[in-house]
Amino acid sequence: MTSILSNVRSLAADLPARQLSNLDEVESIQIQSGALREVAGYLETKRWTSVVMVVDGNTNDIAGQPLANLLTKSSIQVQVTRLLPDWKGDVIADEVSLIQVILDIQQSGAKAVLAVGGGTIHDISRYAAYTAGIPFISVPTAASVDGFNSKGAPIIIRGEKKTIPAIGPSAIFADVDILMSAPPQLTAAGFGDMLGKYTSLFDWKFGSLVAGEPYLQISADITRSALNQCVNGVELIGKRSEEGVRILMGALIESGLAMLLFGQSHPASGSEHHLSHYWEMEFIRLGEKQLLHGAKVGAACVEISKLYHRLGEQGLEMNIGASRGADDVELRITQHWNEIRSHITQIPEPVELGDLMGMVGGPAGVSELPIQSELLKRSLGEAHKVRFSRYTLLHAYNEQGYLFVN
Ligand SMILES: [Zn+2]
Repeated sequence: MTSILSNVRSLAADLPARQLSNLDEVESIQIQSGALREVAGYLETKRWTSVVMVVDGNTNDIAGQPLANLLTKSSIQVQVTRLLPDWKGDVIADEVSLIQVILDIQQSGAKAVLAVGGGTIHDISRYAAYTAGIPFISVPTAASVDGFNSKGAPIIIRGEKKTIPAIGPSAIFADVDILMSAPPQLTAAGFGDMLGKYTSLFDWKFGSLVAGEPYLQISADITRSALNQCVNGVELIGKRSEEGVRILMGALIESGLAMLLFGQSHPASGSEHHLSHYWEMEFIRLGEKQLLHGAKVGAACVEISKLYHRLGEQGLEMNIGASRGADDVELRITQHWNEIRSHITQIPEPVELGDLMGMVGGPAGVSELPIQSELLKRSLGEAHKVRFSRYTLLHAYNEQGYLFVN
């Protein structure tokens, strides 16, 4: 599985050097049983002999402590930074967590940061390492999200979520033994984050056809292939077998590499992610305990599939654009409608998506999450404003609804 990086590099070999260089930061990706034992050797070759290791209570027990023992045996100094959950039980990438890690980096003189945990611990670590001007190394403890090798850090400042450009990991050590023992709902969430690519890939294509959004076929192909591997391996992933977990983690990392290569999140983040972010912001505002990112994305993908299939079947009010003095986007939607409709048919029906989510033990739809129908309705009307510059079909439907037969 060390071949993921070389596969992606060879697929992308014909791209301009500037674009290829997006992949330079990450030197090594290991997804295998016993990958934890490879970390010390890597740090030694880099001469990063003093590190801050970021954990929370759960990840410290399953991976942090064993890793700290291995590193200490190799004479690497380890400062363990243990993040505490808030009163709702969530570890948050907020001011408190960020400053805690930055202070430990400064006081220990660390040469690198090890993120040992899930998405949030990675976001905190990548932003703290970036701020301190040192590298970070990813040690995921669950196949729960596709953001391990992202460069952006979503952080929460004074209750508002912002995604700040930071750094990607220098290396990823995903120990399959640890991933297999992760709580089942985390693996289900990782699968949900991948399932969301059905609608994100559609929205990306749609935006490129009608609104001139930039498009990179290789990134779309890599993402599609990672998605197909997950869907084909759904039974193994549901059982959380060694092979299933390896397939899922490989797909999540490939999806991350496709985004790195393109330089933006279009391949992996469309209207299903905008719905998920909308719900997340609402939960922050109300002070409610957060839901897993991938669980929201999987359920949101079911809802978006429902809407898009309906729009595809109902069609367009064909003459309305011209009579209104249509703008470019309206004209292009009309011109490309047959192609758009054929891309919609590539998104599985909502029932099929719900069944896939159910097979891995995830929510088969929004009704299985604590999301009220009022919030769902409001989010379907407003979620495109979460990322207004990205032109999804949801965006078009909300802005130019008169184009569509209702
Ligand atoms: Zn995601």
